[in-house]
Amino acid sequence: MRERREYAEPFKIKAVESIQLIPRDMRLQAISDAGYNVFNLPSEAVYVDLLTDSGTSAMSDRQWSVLMHGDEAYAGSTSYRRLREVVEEVFGYPYVAPTHQGRAAEHILMTMLVKPGDRVLGNMHFDTTQGHILLKDAEPVDLVFPEGLDPQAELPFKGNIDLAALERELGEHAAGRQRVPFVLITVTCNNNGGQPVSMANIRDASRLARQYGVPVFFDAARFAENCYFVREREPGYAAKSVAEIAREMFSYGAGCTMSAKKDGLVNIGGFLAFRDEATYRQAVQWQIVFEGFATYGGLAGRDLEAMAQGLREVLSPEYLENRIGQVSYLAERLDELGVPRVRPAGGHGVYVDARPMLPQVEPGRFPGQAVVTALYEEGGVRAVELGSLAFARRDAKTGETIYPPNELVRLAIPRRVYTDRHMDHVARTMGLVMKRRHELRGLRLLSEAPVLRHFTARLEPLP
Ligand SMILES: *Cc1c(COP(=O)(O)O)cnc(C)c1O
Repeated sequence: MRERREYAEPFKIKAVESIQLIPRDMRLQAISDAGYNVFNLPSEAVYVDLLTDSGTSAMSDRQWSVLMHGDEAYAGSTSYRRLREVVEEVFGYPYVAPTHQGRAAEHILMTMLVKPGDRVLGNMHFDTTQGHILLKDAEPVDLVFPEGLDPQAELPFKGNIDLAALERELGEHAAGRQRVPFVLITVTCNNNGGQPVSMANIRDASRLARQYGVPVFFDAARFAENCYFVREREPGYAAKSVAEIAREMFSYGAGCTMSAKKDGLVNIGGFLAFRDEATYRQAVQWQIVFEGFATYGGLAGRDLEAMAQGLREVLSPEYLENRIGQVSYLAERLDELGVPRVRPAGGHGVYVDARPMLPQVEPGRFPGQAVVTALYEEGGVRAVELGSLAFARRDAKTGETIYPPNELVRLAIPRRVYTDRHMDHVARTMGLVMKRRHELRGLRLLSEAPVLRHFTARLEPLP
C-alpha cells in the first residue's frame, strides 16, 4: 500500500478564518454546559473541529468566482446545464436531478423504487439511507465481507461486498424483481471507516446483479477518494487517471445518489444522476414536489455552479494525494503514541478504537464519549463518538440493551481546511488523553431522545 506524499499542500491560502484555543477552565465550563455532548458546543469554543467532513470543505478561489455566474432563473438555468455537463463528463450519466443534499436524493430514489417488503442490498448503507429504506417498510441489508468489520484487519478494500452473500440474497429474493429493487454500493464505505471498494468487486457485484435483472446504483458521496485508493492499491490501475477510474466505476451502474457536501467540495448540495431517461423522468416527478423545479432542485443557481466546479477539482491527483496523505499523516502520528485505531486509515478520517484504550470503561458507560470529552478538555478538539451512545438500542421484546460491535471515536478531516500543524495539535492532544486514560471512568446519561439520541443527549461524567 503506497500512501506517501510527494508534495506539500497543492494550494496556498488566500483567505483565513480566525480560530482560538480558549483557556482550559473555559473549555471545562463549555463541555459541562453542553451536557458532555459535543453537538451542544458553540463552534467558537472549538479549536480544531473534526466533527465531520460533511459540508465543511474550503471552496477554492475558482469556486468563489463562479458563484457570480449563478443563473437564478426558476426554469432553464444555464447553471443547471453546466452542472449537467460536468456530471456527464465525470460520471458518464447524462440525466441529472439536483437536490439540496444527499439524503434528499435518497428520498427521491427510495420513493421511486422501493416498495414495502423489499430488501435493498448493499455493502453498508449510510444512516440516512437506512432511514429512508425503513420509512418505505423495506429492509436495508448490509453485505460487506466479514473482515471489513474487524478494526484490526489491515486490508486494502474493506468496503467490498461479500459476493457469495450477494449471490445468495439475489438467488433467494430476486426471482420476483420486486423483492430486490436494486443493489446500492457506497463508495467509500462510510460506516466502517471510509474504507474503499475495489473495482474488481464492483465489476463482479454488478455482473451478478445483472444476471438477476437487478440494477446497481452508487452512493457516490466519496467517489473520488475511492477512485484514488483504486489507483494506489489495485493492480492494473496505477497508470490510469482518477477521472478514467471514475468513468469505469460508474459504467457498472445505472446511476447514483450524491452528497456533494463530501467530494463535491461544497458546503451544501447533492444530486441524483441516471443513465436512462425514463428513470430520470420518474425522478423529476418527485423532485418537483420534494425539492423544487427540475433545473434547481432546492439549490440556488450559484450553488450549482460551485458544485460543478468542485466536481472537477476533486479529481485532481495532487489534491487527492494531499487529502488522503493528510489522513494517513494523522494516523501515523497517533501510531507513534500507541493509540489503538481502525486499520488501515480511511479516506476521510481516522477512527480511534476506544475499547482497548479504556478497558476499565464498560460499553454502558460510553468509553468513546469519554475519549471525545477528554479530547475537547485537553485541546479544544471536537471529534464524534460512533459507539454505544450513537448505536446502542433496546431490544423491543426483551428490553435488553444491544451494544454495537465497536466503540469508535471518529476524527473526520474537513477538505482543504486544516494544515498538518493542526494535525500535530490533534495528535498532541490525543497524547494528553492517553496519559489520563486510566483516570477516565465513563459517563452516565441524564436525558435522551427516542431516536438518534447522540445528537441531543445530555450526560455527566462518573466520579
Ligand atoms: C453524508 C452521506 C449521505 C447523506 O448526505 P447528506 O448530504 O448529509 O444529506 C449519504 N451517504 C453517505 C455515504 C454519506 O456520507
